[in-house]
Amino acid sequence: MNILVLNCGSSSLKFQIIETDAEKMKKGTDRELAKGLIEKVGSDEAIISIKAPGNADYKVIKPLPDHKVALHCVIDWIQMPTTKLDGISSLKDIHAIGHRTVHGTETFNSSVRITDSVIKELEANVDLAPLHNPANLKGIYAAKEVFGNDIPQVGIFDTAFHATLPKYSFLYGIPLEYYNNYKIRKYGFHGTSHRYIGIRYRQITGKSIEDTNIISLHLGNGASICAIKNGKSIDTTMGFTPLEGLMMGTRSGDIDPTIIEFLMKKEHLSIEEVMNVLNKKSGVLGISGLSNDMRDLDKAIAENNDERSKLALEMYAYKNKKFIGSYLAAMNGADALCFTAGIGENSASIRKDICRNLENLGIEIDDKLNNEMTRGKEGLISTKTSKIKVYVIPTNEEIMLAHDTYNIVSGLEILE
Ligand code: AMP
Repeated sequence: MNILVLNCGSSSLKFQIIETDAEKMKKGTDRELAKGLIEKVGSDEAIISIKAPGNADYKVIKPLPDHKVALHCVIDWIQMPTTKLDGISSLKDIHAIGHRTVHGTETFNSSVRITDSVIKELEANVDLAPLHNPANLKGIYAAKEVFGNDIPQVGIFDTAFHATLPKYSFLYGIPLEYYNNYKIRKYGFHGTSHRYIGIRYRQITGKSIEDTNIISLHLGNGASICAIKNGKSIDTTMGFTPLEGLMMGTRSGDIDPTIIEFLMKKEHLSIEEVMNVLNKKSGVLGISGLSNDMRDLDKAIAENNDERSKLALEMYAYKNKKFIGSYLAAMNGADALCFTAGIGENSASIRKDICRNLENLGIEIDDKLNNEMTRGKEGLISTKTSKIKVYVIPTNEEIMLAHDTYNIVSGLEILE
């Protein structure tokens, strides 16, 4: 089955075409036929970049008023005489669409076939995810308009993996009426990535789902940690929104909420302006005063011994360490830590800093193995004697979207 996987942001559209079926899923032989990114959707200078094995790279800049026109560009590219995709000679060879959808609210605790009632439910709950779901809905509307009802569409939710959080873990210590009336609670995000890490960990180790007790660290520009006990998410650092938890590229992570009121008064800022500071100007960027990208900080330290960059890295590692400790307590111990995403997969020094001085908790990094592990590589980075194993596992959210889409369309259970 050829699946078009879509991930729509407010001004972007990412896509992949993945060939999968039950056999390929089992053997891990799914094929990525094409991959593309359309940036600046809604502008006169949208950038379309598509790569596909056996095809010349495609790069065009042109006006694209909305996501529907952007999706049309993808379809036009698929149908160009010069495009050669194995097994795809016309649009009919695209069999299903999988949409990355950030917020499933409490209604969608698993991936779901998109129907009119699903769309209505997502529209009704847009206030819970004002930054993400409107963009995801744009992708769903566009795909419906372009493909009609002939081709099945599936929604895969970032929050769904965390539907197993116990109530004592997902509730905030505020009056219960706010949960009952407005569904204010921890939802958690990056669930598709954390679920993939759990599945991949089982494939690597041969363990059963009941025996999957790991801490998954998704450290990218956005970052979250997930405590996975008996294969299920029991706690995670992001909360009602992706602002909670770890200090991230530009997001503050946890702060005392009183700071918001204090800042509003001191800096004469509106609530929207303070929220913008916490979402876009804080974290690694705010502390370093330089960049949200760890590579820039590494460079500034190497070239200028930059103190603020050093501080940002110290804080980054310390905050990760504290969550590892608290999740080890929440889970009564774990068998492994699994690092993933841009920083988790690439930065040996940050992995080392996070795991430094955790020997008494049974975590020991092997420097040689750690230093060899860069993007795309998967494997163990802990010492032979480390009680808790430490892995680097490159995440693959797109493959999860494709697998869930295949399973839902085929009437099969989705992989936990
Ligand atoms: P992601 O959101 O998962 O794509 O991760 C993006 C982030 O990964 C960037 O902002 C960088 O901070 C980090 N990153 C990517 N490559 C490297 C690298 N080679 N060394 C350190 N950090 C990296």
